[in-house]
Amino acid sequence: MLVRYNAPAAIDATGLHIAPASLLLHVDRLHADDEAPESSRSDSSSRHPTLPPNTLHANLRVEALATPTEIDAHLRALGATPARTIKVVDAILTPALVNAHSHLDLTHIGPQPFDPAEGFTGFIRLVLSRRLTELHDINRSIALGASLSLAGGVVAVGDIAGVVESKPSVWPLLALAGTPLHGVSFLEYFGIGESEEAGVHDSRAAIKEAASRHPANSRVRLGLQPHAPYTASLRLYLEASAHAHGAQRNGVYPMRVSTHLAESPEERELITRGKGPFRQFLERVGWWNRAVEKRFIGSESPISYFFCNCSILGEMQAPFLLAHVNNCSNSDLRDLANSPHSIAYCPRSSSYFRNHEHFGPHRYRDMLAAGINVCLGTDSVINLPNADRLSTLDEARFLFARDGFDPRELLAMATIRGARALGLPETAFRFSQGDTLAGLLAIPVASNSPNPWEAILRSTDDPQLIALHSQPL
Ligand SMILES: [Zn+2]
Repeated sequence: MLVRYNAPAAIDATGLHIAPASLLLHVDRLHADDEAPESSRSDSSSRHPTLPPNTLHANLRVEALATPTEIDAHLRALGATPARTIKVVDAILTPALVNAHSHLDLTHIGPQPFDPAEGFTGFIRLVLSRRLTELHDINRSIALGASLSLAGGVVAVGDIAGVVESKPSVWPLLALAGTPLHGVSFLEYFGIGESEEAGVHDSRAAIKEAASRHPANSRVRLGLQPHAPYTASLRLYLEASAHAHGAQRNGVYPMRVSTHLAESPEERELITRGKGPFRQFLERVGWWNRAVEKRFIGSESPISYFFCNCSILGEMQAPFLLAHVNNCSNSDLRDLANSPHSIAYCPRSSSYFRNHEHFGPHRYRDMLAAGINVCLGTDSVINLPNADRLSTLDEARFLFARDGFDPRELLAMATIRGARALGLPETAFRFSQGDTLAGLLAIPVASNSPNPWEAILRSTDDPQLIALHSQPL
């Protein structure tokens, strides 16, 4: 059936701006019983109270977006009448959002203060001590994270599936697949020095288990995530890259690989000098050995270490999604610009950890100017000021308030650039006639806003998710 939305304006990240706007969507309504995704139906705690009734649809497709007069003419030409007309007041229609870097399985921890004296290792200790070990608890934490994401207008995530009892686990992937979200669940694993063999063995076993227990044609795809260069060896990166290539070659789906890179001063100290708190951590857990020591001395930066590995191996051509990249020299910038990799910048996380005090302002504007695909992520709820919602709209609003950066480009970083990084169709995150729309938002704004992109970033109101596509994109 056709549903018509009449609103003061509609915009997307390509520069499309129609005011007043009428949007016609082809909508296949789900039965009320189908509103909860299959795997969450058996567990009432996994339901999503923030998803209003009649929001989830089997299909959403854009028939047309134009002024009301043009849509009237379009309907006459079609000889069609909308089944419903919805009036959107004092709000702007936009496509729903992408959060390219989240840790939904840490949502139960909630926001926590950062202790600069403890540094990043203190944060890692916190995460390790609070990681969940029971399937039911992990389901609940991810369901809560999904609810907070939907409350923030996010319908697709690049989510990190954290370890369970120190081993890579498919549980977070299966839990995410039970929520209404789209995206990629990046199976995270560790293994360096003395733990390398176990890391290779455990990651292979988890990838195999994921392939057997999770269908490829799901809203949530499997991705791989060697955690970071200070906890995952070259061999794990090579295997992840080769596996992604294999998946592409076999036409299964374009598997994505992610990693944390150039995030903290502790990481830089280890990779460039072989010293510091991260070395102490690796020694304490018994992973440090001579081979690790040799590898970590002499790189100019974490990025050059990463690219040096790429060139040594020659095979690491799979597009990576690099989380953070707070530390980026001019030479690093050139390497990134000549690569297929995307960057998930998490502005509030970067600010929370005070990375600008060590590395200077994040260079996302230089990266974009150099042609690098930079998108937005929230990181976990731990580093956010409150747990009202998990939204890249708030990241964009944070950057607009702090830097005054181009509002349309900020919307692109929260929509089509995130989709590109995750291998999702960009057309689902802009208004593209004839194409599936992942979701539809109404973002409240003050009336008479001359620049609608600016208006949605100046607004502090909650975005309202008013339609969500439930089939795989
Ligand atoms: Zn992360």
